[in-house]
Amino acid sequence: SKNGPIRITRDRLRGMALPHPGEQADKDGRGRVLVVGGSLEVPGALLLAGTAALRAGAGKLQMATCRSIAPHLGLAVPEALVAGLPETPGGGIAAEAADDLCRRAERCNAVLIGPGMMDAEAVAALTAKVVAGLEGGEPGPTLVVDAEALIGLDSLREALCRRQGRTIITPHAGEMAGLLNVSRESIESDPAAAARRVADEYQLVVALKGACTCIAEPGGPLWRYEDGNVGLATSGSGDTLAGVIAGLAARGAEPAQAAAWGVFLHGEAGNRLAAGRGTLGFLARELLAEIPPIMEEMA
Ligand code: AMP
Ligand code: MG
Repeated sequence: SKNGPIRITRDRLRGMALPHPGEQADKDGRGRVLVVGGSLEVPGALLLAGTAALRAGAGKLQMATCRSIAPHLGLAVPEALVAGLPETPGGGIAAEAADDLCRRAERCNAVLIGPGMMDAEAVAALTAKVVAGLEGGEPGPTLVVDAEALIGLDSLREALCRRQGRTIITPHAGEMAGLLNVSRESIESDPAAAARRVADEYQLVVALKGACTCIAEPGGPLWRYEDGNVGLATSGSGDTLAGVIAGLAARGAEPAQAAAWGVFLHGEAGNRLAAGRGTLGFLARELLAEIPPIMEEMA
């Protein structure tokens, strides 16, 4: 319909071009990003998300994860500064890490929380403290919330509203259903309406993922992207998308712009891999190196 979601295309994105660093920019000027997550069982999600943020053009990467995997992650991602945080007996990041995290977050342009986290109670407590800690007078970093960190977000609605659109969430249908306390089927039957509702109620940007991804911003237009392929439905795919979006936000993209560009770049990267080596069986980590040439072509 005339008022339905606007399709995300190359041309439309070119009309909302990403901010570009000047030739004299240093790595801080190109954008600092903090990626928080990982656990003993899912240490690699942070590798994917952090690397994706750099591939999206951010200048400086800091990763914060539980203490026992930090040194391993640091060697796997030699570009990053890695902070080892206190951990729960279950192998997740302990909520007592919140103050340290907030101090790190304040110095960044974008913060992603969620990939690879486990231990639901600790994740919810930590996420709540980080959201509260970023509430100060300054506009502060753009916050991207994904995966495990989305659980329990309904109790943070007022704090998120006070961030006035400086937050992006990237749920799949199951996570969105949890947030709205409805069935997954009801989300899938009208994803645009669900994205619209949460964007307005929480005053944040929603990228509701799936074969058709719907992006909504409070008071703004609805966008849809359905030009990816089923090869993207693979482990770690969402972690790379969240990292790309955080990286774009760190570069200075507005939240809705970062979400729309990120969803497109991720989908297009999947299309290139599918064309080159088949739709089924490419790896999330292989999406990463596809991102810079796609961005370059769209400049
Ligand atoms: P996650 O569920 O967090 O791992 O994220 C999966 C990613 O793959 C999201 O970016 C989805 O939009 C994308 N995706 C999942 N299924 C499909 C599909 N059938 N076609 C295209 N993209 C998909
Ligand atoms: Mg996910």
